[in-house]
Amino acid sequence: MCAKILYDKDVIEKNRENKELKKKLEWRYAKIIFPNEDAYEEAKKNMMENIKTCIDECIPNEHNFMTNLSGGRYAELAPRQRMNIWLTIEGELKKLTNNSSYSYGKGAHITDDVINPALFSLYKIGIFEDLLEEDVVDLVYNIVKYHLIGNPYEGCGGLIGSISYYNCKNCGKETETDGGELCFDCDDDCYDDKSE
Ligand SMILES: [Zn+2]
Repeated sequence: MCAKILYDKDVIEKNRENKELKKKLEWRYAKIIFPNEDAYEEAKKNMMENIKTCIDECIPNEHNFMTNLSGGRYAELAPRQRMNIWLTIEGELKKLTNNSSYSYGKGAHITDDVINPALFSLYKIGIFEDLLEEDVVDLVYNIVKYHLIGNPYEGCGGLIGSISYYNCKNCGKETETDGGELCFDCDDDCYDDKSE
């Protein structure tokens, strides 16, 4: 009896620990399961379209503020541009991951640690002020796009690629999206069958 009480207590304690740990880690990790490649491609396309609409609007609106607010020492997103892009990315990621803290954190990370260092650096090497407004729109969009869905010439990866999975069409096992709809093992079997 004594052992059983201890066991129950252990389970409760472990559950509590797990819950706390999960909460602590939630903002770091997210996972998206797509039913197939079409759904994956469609989700990325929709996401980038919505983000593009935001960037197309908020960069021109405050283009002049991007260097003025720093007293001409560097360029960065103006406060409203930063908030708009951050919240738009947050909203798009939340739609896909259903994870609020992760989406919030990644939105801030992309504006503050990805876009702003690029703008800062372009200003420092004397290029930013020669850029036309539409160049800055393209620049910011392409930085975000590369970060989220990877190098377009390589066709995979990015943040979304790293958290996206399919259930293997053959065995149902979770599999990374960059290998196609079949998991490694099932893909291997197909290859073997064809070569025989
Ligand atoms: Zn499989």
